[in-house]
Amino acid sequence: MQELIMIKYGELTTKKANRKIFINILTQNVEKLLKDDDVEISKDQVRMFIKCHNAKEIASKLQKVFGILRIVIAYKVNNNIIDVLNKSLQIMDKTKHTFKVVTKRADKNFPIHSMEYSKKLGGLILKNSNFKVDVHNPDITLTVEIRSEGTFVYTNEINGPGGYPVGVQGKGLLMLSGGIDSPVAGYLALKRGVNVECLYFESPPHTSVEAKNKVLKLASIINEYSGKVKVHIVPFTKIQEAIFKNCPDIYMITIMRRMMYRVAALYAEKIGSKILINGESIGQVASQTLDSMVCINNVTNMPVIRPVACLDKLEIIDIAKKINTYETSILPYEDCCTIFVPKHPVINPKLDKCIEYEKSFDYQKLIDEATENIETITNFEEDEFTDIL
Ligand code: ATP
Ligand code: MG
Repeated sequence: MQELIMIKYGELTTKKANRKIFINILTQNVEKLLKDDDVEISKDQVRMFIKCHNAKEIASKLQKVFGILRIVIAYKVNNNIIDVLNKSLQIMDKTKHTFKVVTKRADKNFPIHSMEYSKKLGGLILKNSNFKVDVHNPDITLTVEIRSEGTFVYTNEINGPGGYPVGVQGKGLLMLSGGIDSPVAGYLALKRGVNVECLYFESPPHTSVEAKNKVLKLASIINEYSGKVKVHIVPFTKIQEAIFKNCPDIYMITIMRRMMYRVAALYAEKIGSKILINGESIGQVASQTLDSMVCINNVTNMPVIRPVACLDKLEIIDIAKKINTYETSILPYEDCCTIFVPKHPVINPKLDKCIEYEKSFDYQKLIDEATENIETITNFEEDEFTDIL
């Protein structure tokens, strides 16, 4: 193996007691991602090392692994400063002019202190090249990490996505629609280490196959950050039609959302999910006012996490563009929320009214039936649903 990638862990470094578990899960996630690559992975409490043949390609894959703060293509040399100098001169970009040396002395038995080492190595580089020193705004930052197993030098740090390794928090069920918000909510929950599975409510024939494929495509995009995403599809037609038939117009959306939460919470328990996640954002639409949230959330005690609750739409769109879900989200297929929509949905619904209107049909039977008939899609490939684009 010619090349070496060094991974710096993200926020998990602050989790003293659970550190080992976090690092193990991160390692499993990296192993799974690189299962078809010829690599050798090793780790300690501070760094993970990946020996490989194609460091650039591997580094770009690792940019979607939560729990990684930085990815470095590093070069291992022995502790002899002349070897360090030679390797440094070899990797420093000759089209650049200025540099500084940053030394990190992880091996406290190493006799020379960091500052002194940086000065010494910097002096040798000055003597043996045309580079000039600039400690404030250098073109090249040469980092030297002195560790007991050897010295590592590098000039480029690539940002990883940060966050916690997916899986450290257990499972969460994301209500995934074809909109802009819920894929972003899923991405943000994955980033906190939640093992996200998705629940999609479809209402054929009122909603189309294209609408479903759009959701599957979105799931496949967020799956690039996880590798474990599944999509559970709820047959929601009968429930929606019953609401349409039995409930007053202005309460239709509120009651539909209450039914969605009921199905979601029931199914979440069934699959061992601890929380629900959705893309609600305070005030964005009538069903997302605080009064609406009170009425809708009332049907379950399960925690409902709303990662984009306090973001502006434009901020959500920025993230959607960054994670590549935006273009798919804006495709025009009808969602079950957009059919049967009254002109003026209530923005300050009352709980007692919801309960009263729901008495008009046997919703529990329909909920049980819908939950029993959920179809699960696993192992979809990233490109499988591109034909809708
Ligand atoms: P999004 O852009 O995420 O679709 P939205 O602004 O369109 O959100 P709503 O349609 O009111 O808002 O939905 C709010 C949230 O409810 C969505 O973000 C999603 O989490 C969930 N949701 C809505 N429709 C569905 C559906 N058909 N299947 C699963 N979840 C849904
Ligand atoms: Mg929507």
